[in-house]
Amino acid sequence: MTEIRQLPTSVINKIAAGEVIERPASVAKELMENSVDAGAKRIDVSVEKGGTELIRVSDNGCGISAEQLPLAIASHATSKIRDADDLFDVHTLGFRGEALASIAEVSQFLLRSRTDGENGGAELEVVGGRANDVAPCGCPIGTTIEVRQLFYNTPVRRKFMRTTQTEMGHLSEAFTRIALANPHVHFTLRHNDRTVHDLPPVGSWRERISTFFGNEIGDSLLPIDGSDGVIRVSGFAAEPTISRGNNRMQYLFLNGRHIRDRSLQHALGEAYRGLLLTGRYPVVFLRLDIPSDTVDVNVHPTKLEVRFQDSGRIYSQLLGALRQKFLTTDLTAKVQSQPLAVDNDPAAAVDTHQAERQRRELSDWAKGQLPLGSENETAAPSGNSSSDVPVSARQRDLGFRFEQRSGRFPAFQPFPDSGNGLRADVDHPRGHDDNRPSDERSPPPQMSAASPTPTVSNIGMQIHNRYLITENDTGVVIIDQHALHERVLYEQLREKVLAGSLEKQRLLVPETVSLTPAESAAALEASETFAQLGIEIESFGGDTILVSSYPAMLANFNPTEVLRQMVEQLMTGNKVPVRRDLLDDMLHMISCKAAVKAGDRLAADEITALLEQRDLFQDTHHCPHGRPTALVFTNEELDKRFQRT
Ligand code: ADP
Ligand code: MG
Repeated sequence: MTEIRQLPTSVINKIAAGEVIERPASVAKELMENSVDAGAKRIDVSVEKGGTELIRVSDNGCGISAEQLPLAIASHATSKIRDADDLFDVHTLGFRGEALASIAEVSQFLLRSRTDGENGGAELEVVGGRANDVAPCGCPIGTTIEVRQLFYNTPVRRKFMRTTQTEMGHLSEAFTRIALANPHVHFTLRHNDRTVHDLPPVGSWRERISTFFGNEIGDSLLPIDGSDGVIRVSGFAAEPTISRGNNRMQYLFLNGRHIRDRSLQHALGEAYRGLLLTGRYPVVFLRLDIPSDTVDVNVHPTKLEVRFQDSGRIYSQLLGALRQKFLTTDLTAKVQSQPLAVDNDPAAAVDTHQAERQRRELSDWAKGQLPLGSENETAAPSGNSSSDVPVSARQRDLGFRFEQRSGRFPAFQPFPDSGNGLRADVDHPRGHDDNRPSDERSPPPQMSAASPTPTVSNIGMQIHNRYLITENDTGVVIIDQHALHERVLYEQLREKVLAGSLEKQRLLVPETVSLTPAESAAALEASETFAQLGIEIESFGGDTILVSSYPAMLANFNPTEVLRQMVEQLMTGNKVPVRRDLLDDMLHMISCKAAVKAGDRLAADEITALLEQRDLFQDTHHCPHGRPTALVFTNEELDKRFQRT
């Protein structure tokens, strides 16, 4: 017979703890939320080993009196609601009264607190799940909670914790969300005795956002403010020039609480429809303020999701507020100033942001504020800059030079020297390639009707700046120039990476890239794979990453942009990243990025260079994405169509 037993409290609490406390970041979140609820003006978070060893949160909030300390760590004990009705009118971040109980159950726990009226403080220690007596202690007004050895008594949970970097990434993201929501509070975050963030209180939200995510984002923010009298949407939406490959940079705060909501994310996508390329996600920081009795925050263990009484109305209000802004803002100039700079000189590989920064640096220099040092010289592209040349003009100039250049195949130039170039590098069956009829390299037939001015090389021609036409021993071959180039680069790159001989470009002035906490943790964790690809990164404090080198074949691109895309690739993979898969994903991304695009006009020697890699498209008819690289029309088929047979 099965016997139904009432579980002991400690087991109940461990079960509850499993719901709320998933990892160190959850502890930090709960403790910080309590500090915010206590009205603190300053909150200091200090952690060791990503929070696995220690998480300490100190605040200068209202404190807890000595006699109430045992209640604070009792489960279902809270000062924030009284009855069930209050559950549907929550004005605080917490209300369930189970966080401290849960945390104390699975850690070595110490709580010290003092209220305004008391002369001294009191402390309560919980060791091995058992609470000691409350003891007096000296401490300032406010509360400090120390959580050591998280999950020490739940080994399975402890095993589930990932590396220090990953846990710190999550913790840092939790910190970011709360610090973003409360700009008037002074927050600090220290990790292993290093200050990661020190955020004094600020009057404007934009300031705090810029501190976290850098000026590139801060400067691109369009203020949003719309209200229908009941629902207010306020905050910032980034201009469409700024976007991401996932929706992690969409910070939504509902009545001061960070939330994720699919329907609201959809509204954001709708608002930016037509302004962003497919697969790109807008960057927003928005507050939704609605009457607290029209939302149920008690539907998710960590309250990350909520249920709205009238979600349709919130959806339209959000969409409406953004649309209104976009309609009344001239975004065209911004969209046009997207990077179009392409140049083989890495120092000149500028995007808008860099160009803007260089312009500023130069104008500063012109005003005599900066000495003319070597740093400035490397930052300035080939001496054609001057402080009063507008950015757009310089970009046009770069664009022009790009059009005029020939031999822009960065990957072809270093290796091919024909004979033992790529084909010797790549382990491909040769077969019929070597038995090509000797007339194969003769010029293709004239096809004057195909395109106004096709470029013709001695083995093929380009039409409409996107397809290459050539022949093989069975008929006519039409090749997608991007797909083929991508395939060629992928094979080259893979060979080189496996042989450890990939050329990398060392940056004279390393680039700093600010990422979200989760992104920077993921990037650092993948740093070995990145290094194999020639991208050397290291932590630069906070969530900023320093890029000191990148693959030479991506010399045409901005290293910041390259890193961002690689990180996005990292974050979008939903499977557990196996290093080989990751490397392969990155190889695909880099080759796709470096390859010529449809619309790029090729010079005759470039067409020749590309078509000389024909073994690749003859043996493998698909680009790394699986699209065909070439279509073959056999002579028989043509004969049939022309009714010769
Ligand atoms: P909840 O936040 O849901 O009420 P918790 O377990 O997180 O539950 O906290 C229990 C109670 O302890 C709170 O209701 C609050 O009264 C008190 N408390 C917790 N942390 C603090 C703090 N930092 N400052 C003042 N009071 C606190
Ligand atoms: Mg709480």
